[in-house]
Amino acid sequence: MSQTVVNVVTLGCSKNLVDSERLLKMLADAGCKTLIEARPESLPKDAVVIVNTCGFIADAKEESINTLLQWGQLKSRKRIRSLIAMGCLSERYKEELPGLVPEVDHWFGKTDWSGIVSYLASLNPATAPYDRIITTPRHHAYLKIAEGCNRFCAFCAIPLITGRYHSRPIEEILDEVRLLASRGVTELNVIAQDLSNYGHDIYGESRLAQLIDRMADIPGIRWIRLHYAYPADFPMDILDVMARRDNVCKYLDIALQHISDPVLNNMRRHISSDQTRRLLRQIREKVPGIHIRTTLMVGFPGEGQKEFDELMEFVREQKFERMGAFAYCEEDDTYAAKHFSDSIPDDVKQQRLDSLMALQEEISLSHHQSKVGTRMKVVVDREEPDYYVCRSEFDSPEVDPEVLVSKNTRCRRGDMIEVIITAALPFELMADPVV
Ligand code: SF4
Repeated sequence: MSQTVVNVVTLGCSKNLVDSERLLKMLADAGCKTLIEARPESLPKDAVVIVNTCGFIADAKEESINTLLQWGQLKSRKRIRSLIAMGCLSERYKEELPGLVPEVDHWFGKTDWSGIVSYLASLNPATAPYDRIITTPRHHAYLKIAEGCNRFCAFCAIPLITGRYHSRPIEEILDEVRLLASRGVTELNVIAQDLSNYGHDIYGESRLAQLIDRMADIPGIRWIRLHYAYPADFPMDILDVMARRDNVCKYLDIALQHISDPVLNNMRRHISSDQTRRLLRQIREKVPGIHIRTTLMVGFPGEGQKEFDELMEFVREQKFERMGAFAYCEEDDTYAAKHFSDSIPDDVKQQRLDSLMALQEEISLSHHQSKVGTRMKVVVDREEPDYYVCRSEFDSPEVDPEVLVSKNTRCRRGDMIEVIITAALPFELMADPVV
């Protein structure tokens, strides 16, 4: 793959010049061949031109617009491959300018221009640091938005393995989404050890809502589903995005682990039983129809029969649409391994796990029965001899129930079809296509 040639044209003041100089360094580090104010005739046809615009006074604005128009003409005559704008004018008139100079491929502002490097990488996927071979069916992909975890739950070794929380920049993630969409991915399963913390380390505040809102604007993305929120410090503004955007699934995977205060304290979960219930109430109020998936743990030190009964009662009361559970297992070097004795016998842990899952089976069946006779949109994941295996917006791949659709019509993998639910099992739905 040939090296990307990037010509940077700077207008305006010395502050703009410093931004251009920093950009040039970033581009060079990313392996681009950089040119400064090169004449059009000296550029190869696959060159990228970046104009750093000025919006200070009328003359400066006019000069910036004329420069963009001139390079825009060259782009429409295919003398350059791509035209990018950044800087003050671009920031100030971001609504109006795309109509005036439609040849510009991407408008960056005064502060977000560092995203240019990853944007260029998305134009040339062979150089994108996040490029990968998708092994899931072509229409859906997992999208990791952060690494690591800062929570240090007492039972968990993940922070010891992965290190501190590290958010990926918004622009880089959006470029990855554009790349995935260009390859036919329509469904994104957004993942991180702790979605709730997204943005704090690099932006000083939560940016999950902004990220998902902007992701939802990208053409071709039909479903965005969120996994692994942490209940303490939950970013409530994500619920507004979920309620407002049709392509953000009304689905939240939020691991609660337990409900009894002494157990939550021992687990170092930074949330109480009352706060957990209040959060769940708010989630359901703000996003009617949401399907909540949670994970619970039995047998953690401090869980006596009373605490386990409390957990059972909580599950009975909350009726989670989806729930997984597991028995505590001591992990080396964790806080729990150092401070508690893993004293609950294995057979007691197993009995508690079985009771919890039996209860969830009843709850799941009752949820499913209430869907019989209703219509829903599903995506076709694969074809079996007698039916299509599909999922709705409420079903994450691999972990959630599937919708088995009769073969009354011809479908292909990745198609989205409307079905009517005909029968319910605890962990599966049967349906016919609406033809
Ligand atoms: S359980 Fe989740 S939130 Fe808690 S430390 Fe492990 S990865 Fe972090």
